[in-house]
Amino acid sequence: MDYQHQTIMDLRKQLDDGTCTSEELFQTALDLAKKYQESDNSFVTITPEFKQKKSQSLLNGIPYGLKDNFSTANILTTASSNILKDYIPPYDATVYKKLKQSGAVLVGKTTLDELAMGGTGTTAHTGVVRNPWDEQRLIGGSSAGSAACVARGIVPFAIGSDTGDSIRKPAAFGGIVGFKPTYGRISRYGLFAFASSLDHVGTLTRCVEDAAIVTDVLKGKDPLDMTSLENEDLNYYEHLHDDIKGRKLFYFKETCDLENYSAEDEEVIAVLTKFHELLDRLRKEGFEIEGISFGKDLLNAIYPSYMTISCAEATSNNANLTGIQFGPRGEGSSIEEIMFDARTKGFSELIKRRFILGSYILQKENQERLFLNAGRVRRLIVDRMNKLFETYDGLIMPASGGIAPKFGERSDELSERYLLLENHLALGNFGGFPSITLPMGFLHGMPLGINLTGRIKEDGVVLTMAQKIEDVAGYRGIVAGDQNV
Ligand code: GLN
Repeated sequence: MDYQHQTIMDLRKQLDDGTCTSEELFQTALDLAKKYQESDNSFVTITPEFKQKKSQSLLNGIPYGLKDNFSTANILTTASSNILKDYIPPYDATVYKKLKQSGAVLVGKTTLDELAMGGTGTTAHTGVVRNPWDEQRLIGGSSAGSAACVARGIVPFAIGSDTGDSIRKPAAFGGIVGFKPTYGRISRYGLFAFASSLDHVGTLTRCVEDAAIVTDVLKGKDPLDMTSLENEDLNYYEHLHDDIKGRKLFYFKETCDLENYSAEDEEVIAVLTKFHELLDRLRKEGFEIEGISFGKDLLNAIYPSYMTISCAEATSNNANLTGIQFGPRGEGSSIEEIMFDARTKGFSELIKRRFILGSYILQKENQERLFLNAGRVRRLIVDRMNKLFETYDGLIMPASGGIAPKFGERSDELSERYLLLENHLALGNFGGFPSITLPMGFLHGMPLGINLTGRIKEDGVVLTMAQKIEDVAGYRGIVAGDQNV
């Protein structure tokens, strides 16, 4: 099998039996990273120096990509923004430290939507990320480069962050697996904060097994992140093949029932047809799956409350980007002038729009009406999910209403369609629920994803159910360009 198709365990075996060395794997990954950089633009920085600490971990000697919003000492870390374009941090994110200790080998820092805001992979200061399945199409964001380098087969895994859907959406558009574990399962120390109450660290891989392996290495309490969870003894990898018989799943009737769409919604109908076909096959394997009505008002409230909360938190978290402590210094003769200049030049339109919204939401007279009310709406939505989780083990949904859009077809503007079809991914962030996307099929030669969200702290159950879905769907380990899938 060629390198690009190999999973972590495939590479592990070769390293262990001496068929290859970690230096050779790194060199292969590096060559591929360079070869595809012009077409895909997965990396902000390729790290050409082989550095490895030997360990007993399953990740020992495995190459990987790290999103460029994780702090890496002495390695450029830009968050894909002009405001940090020359920033070299003095400290390591916990995730990076753990990966170094496990002997995994960094190949590069991956491109994101500027400061992890947005969902298209088109706003990085170093240009757009293209979808390896079709260069005319975006791969989605914000973990765009992490998804693209895994979908291309440059590395078997990459690390991403997910505040609303940023791991799980690009995974869907790239035909790979994106897993966001429970809030706090993986330390956020050293991840540039976007919206702290919603930010999660997670993985992009080409199979569920690899998501479990990497999460096993990264999970655990970190004294440097007070929201991190105590470690649980469960090893996710060892429990992947536990029995799922009788596990109960639900989906939203409002967005998944075909009768709610008309003939002109061709693409959505094609996606939902595949979705329901897969559900039927899953039922035969022992899942119980039912449509429920979540409530259209609550569904419609997800996106506006997400934007209200995330823009407010982002505005506050990013107030330290002044052009004084980090990144290129602004020009001017007073602190105000320096900040004004740095922030005017440093941020793209999307970021400025969000900071204006955030500042408005955080104004004293608006805080109660906007920020606190959005938090109350979030609570209502999470309560409804938790009520459903009393009966069901998971929510199963298409990860998107269609295939990856062409450049220019989609922006981050509000639209009714976006509202109804894709906002459910943010539920995982609202409640901190573990949530995973994996491939469910193809349409017009492009991959489509299915998403599964489970009860808080039940990461192991979600991974076990996802393993079964992967077995049934049959798209384990695919790489961009694979034929006959
Ligand atoms: N697409 C969402 C946004 O625009 C989510 C981004 C994320 O998860 N980082 O904010």
